[in-house]
Amino acid sequence: MIAVIADVHANLPALRAVLGEVRRHRVDGLLCLGDVVGYHAEPDECVGLLAEAGCAGVLGNHDLGALTGDDHHAGSVARAIQRWTGERLSAAARAFLASWPARLYRPWGQAVHGCYTHPAATIGYVTATTAAANLAAFAASAGLIPGAVGWFGHTHTPAIHGVAAEVAGEVELPASGCTLINPGSVGQPRDGDPRASFALWDPDRRTVRIVRVAYDIDATVRALTAAGLPAELGQRLRDGR
Ligand code: ZN
Repeated sequence: MIAVIADVHANLPALRAVLGEVRRHRVDGLLCLGDVVGYHAEPDECVGLLAEAGCAGVLGNHDLGALTGDDHHAGSVARAIQRWTGERLSAAARAFLASWPARLYRPWGQAVHGCYTHPAATIGYVTATTAAANLAAFAASAGLIPGAVGWFGHTHTPAIHGVAAEVAGEVELPASGCTLINPGSVGQPRDGDPRASFALWDPDRRTVRIVRVAYDIDATVRALTAAGLPAELGQRLRDGR
């Protein structure tokens, strides 16, 4: 069993709640689909927790923005927060994040932050309208891996593309065709459900389950306020937008 997380966005109370839930399951590995930082107030602590957990991962556009100081396709508020974040990352956190590639290749498939159609992989969105093109691009790059799984994040909305019928609870993945999966966002869900989201994936049984975890949003908002970051980010958390 592998726990897959994405878009933590420096929300430490949400990450702690998710890692607590992960510990309740028999998990052999932890995979992160990028954007560990950006938006919220505890970037260094979040990177530190993932480093401690030996988390494998890919870089997101916000991670790159904080590491390089360049504008990685973020809006003006996000850019300002990326600069703020860059100043707060310790050398150890920087080194850990910088060790992640933009695209991870594994025997089971691949992982990216953004999408499979853009050469940068950290940007571009897999949505209902772009899913078919992304499935085709992923299938071409995954070659002959039967039932390859392509993980992605960036939209902050859990999704499973490539399965005939999406069912509540455990979803069975096809053994031949490709599947693209987004575990949802740990630290800033945008699907109207404010609870943190992640995925429990069993590559042997070929099943995946999206898990939602309630956490102390007030604690995240308090840290946000204390850091002087935009208050609107707190309201978005409560709305799940
Ligand atoms: Zn994100």
